[in-house]
Amino acid sequence: MNPLSPHELEALAARLHRHRAELASQLRLRLGPLPLTAQLLNGTISPDDPAVARQLPGCDPVRLAEDLATLRGLDSACARLADGSYGRCQGCGVAIPHERLRVQPTAHMCLPCQQEHERRPHRGKRN
Ligand SMILES: [Zn+2]
Repeated sequence: MNPLSPHELEALAARLHRHRAELASQLRLRLGPLPLTAQLLNGTISPDDPAVARQLPGCDPVRLAEDLATLRGLDSACARLADGSYGRCQGCGVAIPHERLRVQPTAHMCLPCQQEHERRPHRGKRN
């Protein structure tokens, strides 16, 4: 049971797939036709690996890590679309409001769960 209408789901899916394709082709252009590029894009190697960083001189590792994290988020959203779990909170199972998905199509948790999740790590704690 998905609370999103088929039309809403379709629009979100189109955005996710388009964003994923754009980001992947941007990264391919930036990194060049290295075997490494494909491995970075499919997540088999990490940009944090010093051996990887050595092969990518002139590539900002922080930005690369961010872009790859975004790509992972898009991949996982596309996987959830494929298996039908998209739009449902992975923390508590409630339907994620369409409003939230429209702002952040890769959201995999409802806002309360997301906030709870963000509170847990040591960094970025408020009060
Ligand atoms: Zn939740």
